[in-house]
Amino acid sequence: MAIEPAYVVFSLGTQPMIAEAQRFLREWGVEPLGRYGRWEYSSMGQVMRDALNWASDLRSSMRMSRGVVELGNIERGQ
Ligand SMILES: Cc1cc2nc3c(=O)[nH]c(=O)nc-3n(C[C@H](O)[C@H](O)[C@H](O)COP(=O)(O)OP(=O)(O)OC[C@H]3O[C@@H](n4cnc5c(N)ncnc54)[C@H](O)[C@@H]3O)c2cc1C
Repeated sequence: MAIEPAYVVFSLGTQPMIAEAQRFLREWGVEPLGRYGRWEYSSMGQVMRDALNWASDLRSSMRMSRGVVELGNIERGQ
């Protein structure tokens, strides 16, 4: 299957479309990453950094929510 364009291309009106697509995906718990997910002209280093930052943020938020659950259990005497 041929996909046109096989490269990130920027034109007038691209930014609002990207913002809307990303908003929709995040609403469904999907984090767009990488050159095509974020539709940006990024290098290999940038996409790896963004993925590591996202994983680190996710790990922190999971720790925080686990902390809230654990605190809730203590308050309930469990
Ligand atoms: C010609 C060219 C030269 C470049 N040179 C450099 C360079 O010298 N240095 C540098 O830092 N960066 C360079 N880049 C940029 C670099 O390739 C990208 O920034 C980087 O690969 C983006 O990583 P990614 O994971 O976002 O996407 P990708 O590396 O494109 O990975 C996406 C993967 O998803 C797969 N995929 C897509 N659709 C589906 C699907 N429906 N189901 C399953 N799998 C799917 C693809 O096959 C691919 O393996 C170059 C890019 C190009 C095009």
